[in-house]
Amino acid sequence: MFLLFEVRKGVVNIMKIFGENVFNDAVMKERLPHATYKSLRKTIEEGLALDPGVAEIVANAMKDWAIEKGATHFTHWFQPLTGITAEKQDSFISPTKYGNVVMEFSGKELSQGEPDASSFPSGGIRATFEARGYTIWDCTSPAFLKKDADLLTLCIPTAFCSYTGEALDKKTPLLRSMQTLSKQALRVLRLFGNTTTARVTSSVGAEQEYFLVDKKFFDQRLDLMLTGRTLFGAMPPKGQELDDHYFGSIKTRVASFMNELNVELWKLGVLAKTQHNEVAPGQFELAPIYGTTNIAADHNQLVMETMKKVALRHNMVCLLHEKPFAGINGSGKHNNWSLTTNDGLNLLEPGHTPHENLQFLTIICAVVKAVDDYAELLRGSAANPGNDHRLGANEAPPAIISIFLGDQLTDIFAQLESGGLNRSLQGEKLASGVKTLPAFRKDSTDRNRTSPFAFTGNKFEFRMIGSSQSISGPNVVFNLIIAEVLSQFADRLEQAADFNQVLQELLQETVTNHKRILFDGNGYSAEWVEEAAKRGLPNISSTVDAALVLLRESTIDLYEKHKVLDRTELESRYEINLEQYCKQINIEALTMIDMAKHQIIPAAVKYSTQLANSINAIKSASKTTDVSVQEDLLKNLCSTLVSLEEKLNALEQDVQTANALLGDAYEHGVYYRDVVFKAMEALRIDGDKLETIIDADLWPLPTYAQMLFML
Ligand code: ADP
Ligand code: MG
Repeated sequence: MFLLFEVRKGVVNIMKIFGENVFNDAVMKERLPHATYKSLRKTIEEGLALDPGVAEIVANAMKDWAIEKGATHFTHWFQPLTGITAEKQDSFISPTKYGNVVMEFSGKELSQGEPDASSFPSGGIRATFEARGYTIWDCTSPAFLKKDADLLTLCIPTAFCSYTGEALDKKTPLLRSMQTLSKQALRVLRLFGNTTTARVTSSVGAEQEYFLVDKKFFDQRLDLMLTGRTLFGAMPPKGQELDDHYFGSIKTRVASFMNELNVELWKLGVLAKTQHNEVAPGQFELAPIYGTTNIAADHNQLVMETMKKVALRHNMVCLLHEKPFAGINGSGKHNNWSLTTNDGLNLLEPGHTPHENLQFLTIICAVVKAVDDYAELLRGSAANPGNDHRLGANEAPPAIISIFLGDQLTDIFAQLESGGLNRSLQGEKLASGVKTLPAFRKDSTDRNRTSPFAFTGNKFEFRMIGSSQSISGPNVVFNLIIAEVLSQFADRLEQAADFNQVLQELLQETVTNHKRILFDGNGYSAEWVEEAAKRGLPNISSTVDAALVLLRESTIDLYEKHKVLDRTELESRYEINLEQYCKQINIEALTMIDMAKHQIIPAAVKYSTQLANSINAIKSASKTTDVSVQEDLLKNLCSTLVSLEEKLNALEQDVQTANALLGDAYEHGVYYRDVVFKAMEALRIDGDKLETIIDADLWPLPTYAQMLFML
């Protein structure tokens, strides 16, 4: 009996817990009056304006539901331009005149909040004396309950705008971009005779990579604590070269973490699906089942937050930085993107004979043109200081945007270009050579892991995004640039006297003009960098240069045409990107200086004194004994220490200069990138060399081997 109970205790009933902390469709249906429910569904599904009467009724139902579950507080949950989420909690209590309290939550409290906008990055839109900012209920993403210790809080996903209506967050432009995409995609669908679809949305599945380290090591590393990455650390004897971690069997401690993570995510309605060991030691991945972009973006924030919390319960720390460790792979986020209609069609589904599916080919051509026309915007959307370590290194796609289409579509594109469509290559039977293995047809196309933007059967996978980034930025760019090209296509096709003829010309022209962006080869190779330059494809290597693209007139025109961001909002995002870059590098530089001064130099001094004492002691005991090993060590140690001290002084000087620098945000960024960052790299070389010389007992920092292999 006891045994049975113990076994059953570990069983997770997914069906029972899934979505239990979400004010989801089922709960709304049960608790809202039918008319209110229908009205709200219409807004969610068809993007219609929210009926003002709805909020009061929903607020009441939400409050009752949350309180029954044990919630005491509510918060508007939003995504300021820090890239993470923000919340300010209020309890439901309201005093009565008899000295008691009642629990209240009004339609107004659901619909709008007013956090101080001046303390979030605003890129100059909000000065401290103009502080008003509003959070506004996004009813298209469901409210949920978040549990921290015993505190249960009702979280209401919201957009965040300034008093004057400018977007101060990641969600507002995402919702705006979804609106324009739907509008333009519908114009194209109508041309193909579709009269029933009411809305087109982009769908996203975001694969999330992360590292886990033991908390006892994390706590001893100021760099991990303050910057999320190791600023010093010599390479261990073993890295990832044996490929023995990728998809390896999951260690018990990690499995236990993953199990709890899944449970927490399922309760929040996140469709956590896939989990595995990644390429680098200590690195893992989680992928949810895809959903509407807006909700996928919210869920990805919850995934990141939950990973961090659950890891701590297992005495581990989850690192989401793009490059926590030098010399082994960093972490990214693969953004799988497709276009879905409200009646269930995936517009990127080729079907069995894509050469006959002109609507599909039109959409694919629009994606190809959009990515070629706006490659720099797309590249910029994945730029942050952490990702500068990855893009272009030999582990992540290069900083050059290209598209992988695969054999079948490449063949169809060649047919389109030469003006006749007559075949779709089909996958052949897989020849495993073993009779007892089941036989099946292969996919029509192989994969390519080195392409930053790959067609993977019925979706595109954008592989550039950094692991710590919000996926909103890149998805705003996809939605926007594809909406723009679809609008250009629609403009032309709507005027056509002969639709088929004009469509054929349009597709042929698109392939001819944009085939330079197509590349199926090895994106990690040096030849590709050369080849891409010949083709005139942009190659932006840093966050600093990527930021400039936001200020181009062509960018501003595009964003303003589709009402996704206006000039002021773009200028503010430009300022913020550069400001965040400079601040991040500044913090890293100061952290290195601190560690060098207070940990590395003292360890070196201690060891050199020990060596000197040893040499003296041995010499005085026996003049003829050979102390050359100690002497060599001492010399090597002291000369490295002198060199480290020089680099340290140089870095301190550079940081001072950077802080005193006049000039604009771009000049600051360039200085941090070209001078401060370079000085940090130089200092690290000596720091890491000292690690290889100094007695392990005296070395003050946990080593790479400990952090990566002792989980
Ligand atoms: P892989 O590593 O092979 O790319 P994963 O299973 O790790 O595959 O992740 C694939 C991701 O793509 C998942 O999040 C999945 O839900 C998502 N996905 C699948 N189909 C679509 C689609 N039509 N639109 C958007 N995302 C999709
Ligand atoms: Mg994957």
